Amino acid sequence: MIANRTFTMIKPDAVENGHIGGILDKITSAGFKIVAMKYTQLSTRDAEEFYAVHKERPFYGELVEFMSRGPIVAAILEKDNAVEDFRALIGATNPAEAAEGTIRKLYATSIGENAVHGSDSDENAAIEGAFHFAGREVF
Ligand code: GDP
Repeated sequence: MIANRTFTMIKPDAVENGHIGGILDKITSAGFKIVAMKYTQLSTRDAEEFYAVHKERPFYGELVEFMSRGPIVAAILEKDNAVEDFRALIGATNPAEAAEGTIRKLYATSIGENAVHGSDSDENAAIEGAFHFAGREVF
């Protein structure tokens, strides 16, 4: 994947709370183009693998359980400076600390159930995108 792309998930809490449409509107209104998208659910093993980097963190078990408890929307997004600009659009990990107007400020409920994922580097965007999408599913 190239440097102007990032990977996102609308997490189970935001799907359960009916925020798919609102979040997609924020994303496209901010100038991101959707180049891949699917409605899917992570198995426990998928979530363990996706978040393996956090294996030693005290919240790992809770995170895996949360991320696999219901459907998500996974997508690859394209825009100049995609990774950094998307992190700005979603806001801080903890919604209580997220800036006004950010997706997490608007839609997240807690530091764990924080509505959206956004890749933290071009390298991870490529790895995470490939985790969810075959080449023929990316446009
Ligand atoms: P992000 O890059 O902003 O998503 O944050 P991190 O990479 O630090 O953490 C990954 C994800 O783990 C977050 O988006 C949260 O869903 C979850 N998480 C982070 N910190 C906590 C915590 O203290 N408790 C719980 N339950 N989950 C957390």
